[in-house]
Amino acid sequence: MTLTQSKIMVVDDSRLARAALEELLRREGYHHIVQVNSGQAAMDSLGLEQAESSPASLPDLILLDIVMEGLDGIGLCSRIKAHQHLRDIPIIMLTAKADSDSLRQAFQAGAMDYVTKPYHEAELALRVRSALTLKAEIDRRKAREADLIDATHKLGALNRKLRQLSNLDGLTGISNRRFFDEAFPREWRRALRQGHPLAVLMIDIDHFKAYNDNFGHAQGDECLKQVARCLLEGLRRPGDLLARYGGEEFVVVLADTDRQGALVVAEALRQGVERLGLPHAKSHAAKVVTVSIGAAAALPGEGQLEHDLLAQADRALYRAKALSRNRVTCSWTDIDPLVGGQRGES
Ligand code: GH3
Ligand code: MG
Ligand code: MG
Repeated sequence: MTLTQSKIMVVDDSRLARAALEELLRREGYHHIVQVNSGQAAMDSLGLEQAESSPASLPDLILLDIVMEGLDGIGLCSRIKAHQHLRDIPIIMLTAKADSDSLRQAFQAGAMDYVTKPYHEAELALRVRSALTLKAEIDRRKAREADLIDATHKLGALNRKLRQLSNLDGLTGISNRRFFDEAFPREWRRALRQGHPLAVLMIDIDHFKAYNDNFGHAQGDECLKQVARCLLEGLRRPGDLLARYGGEEFVVVLADTDRQGALVVAEALRQGVERLGLPHAKSHAAKVVTVSIGAAAALPGEGQLEHDLLAQADRALYRAKALSRNRVTCSWTDIDPLVGGQRGES
């Protein structure tokens, strides 16, 4: 927008004064001129008494007479400057009153400039021009700020999305190892603070290499997805965390869960996978896809490491594998509880 396209409002109760101003402005190339004959009429035109004024129709500059019947120029100026949507419109006061009191009042009310009548036409034209230049700069700055705020919001949303994506495993959609590595120490510290027990389950699909060899890698992927979904659905509490730990290995962190609780959840998960009934003729553990689970639980205390809990679960899983798979084995006893698909075996 060029300066001459600016919209200028002339507020004066003298018709002659308004006409003279309009003529001068038109000579200077401005064509969007609105004449208003009183302070109240200006209020109406600016929508000052409505809750929201529409910014599209607002003037870029107001030439304002001070002495008017009713609401005078000083009063109108103060109201405009107190209004959030209007306060950036520059106001040039025009008056025959040249005393320093009027001048002070006008600037206190928020006027940008002050011209005494009778005015020097070339001088007024210059002041109008510089006020409009300033207004254009303010508008540009506001538009830039709005763009910046918009871009900041979009960037924030994108960052959240990226963070979420980088925490998820691409194949199964559950949390990935990266997320687990961050979340587990956090859960450990929370348990330590609250004096609650914490349990970890290490879960590994039985004879999965044979499954891949038999059905192909694509079907192996599909199997992984189904097992992941089944494990996720098997977890009841919102605080339970399931992550893909590596290839066909998963890890579960159970907050505020002791040994007994860990065994119950682990056994439910094991049975859930078995019940999926995904055929696996090459498995020596069952006719369907099964998992072995190593469980560990601890009451975190000073001097203990979360890593130890993980290592215990891992050792328990190793024993479950050694004890013919498709079973839950726990870390806290040398004699494993008789849970799992191979009950009674040792
Ligand atoms: P065990 O019962 O002792 O766990 O035997 P296993 O065959 O399951 O264990 P092993 O570690 O020998 O083999 C794991 C297999 O998992 C080998 C690997 O190709 C497969 N695997 C790991 N990640 C993926 C994956 O993302 N997709 C597929 N399809 N297979 C995977
Ligand atoms: Mg395996
Ligand atoms: Mg494995």
